[in-house]
Amino acid sequence: MIEIGHKSDVKLVIDGKRLDGRSSNELREVDMKIGVINRATGSALVRFGNTVAIAAVHGPRELFPRFLQQSEAGILRVRYNMAPFSVDDRKSPGPDRRSTEISKVIRSALEEVIFLEEFPKATIDVFVEILQADGSTRVTAINAASLALASAGIPMRDLVSACSVGKIDNQLIVDLNGKEDNFGETDMALAMQGGRKNVTLLQMDGVLTNVEFEKLLGFAKENCLKIYELQKKTLKEAYKRD
Ligand code: ADP
Repeated sequence: MIEIGHKSDVKLVIDGKRLDGRSSNELREVDMKIGVINRATGSALVRFGNTVAIAAVHGPRELFPRFLQQSEAGILRVRYNMAPFSVDDRKSPGPDRRSTEISKVIRSALEEVIFLEEFPKATIDVFVEILQADGSTRVTAINAASLALASAGIPMRDLVSACSVGKIDNQLIVDLNGKEDNFGETDMALAMQGGRKNVTLLQMDGVLTNVEFEKLLGFAKENCLKIYELQKKTLKEAYKRD
């Protein structure tokens, strides 16, 4: 349910702690798993607290209709979708402006790490379903999609790791939950290539001073690297030989 109220009516930090008990620079509990969908070429599930995303990769496969094919390189297509049951009030099913925008930013956050030139005339399709939404769904989706691409054996330059940061009750924090996103002052989503450290997504909603922005960028990069380590660990454990 979307809560109605003025932003300033809702206290989000009490005695230095956030409502879910976290400190400012603390991620929610994170779970990652690959190989969760048999029929996909690769798949992954990522959970940050109550936000759960599942990603499935199909391809590379020949792109139809043929006039969309590119002779030099393959293309990446991404569909982000929030399930109707992912939020308290049922969300009307199907695409909307928000999901179209998020699909586009996820694609541009991922596209550069894939050796698409190895797959002329082909498409790689990534489907991300948000099963539970409690803030930061786009960054959770990117983490899941990146793992699913790796588990599909798609040749990649790097893994993409993403997290959200923001400002609530005048405090700078990481990994916003739904309430913090809806009632906070500012939220920012960042994705970066974990090994090469290139930023591939930066979106911000709200206002920050230059000093706050620099500090949040530091928080975001630090936490993206933590997520990168978890992604690597998840992949290594899945392919470990006894
Ligand atoms: P992100 O999920 O990447 O932070 P938004 O800032 O657009 O993207 O959304 C913030 C949060 O608002 C979502 O994670 C979700 O918890 C909630 N939300 C988004 N769309 C809806 C909706 N249609 N109904 C209820 N809650 C929603």
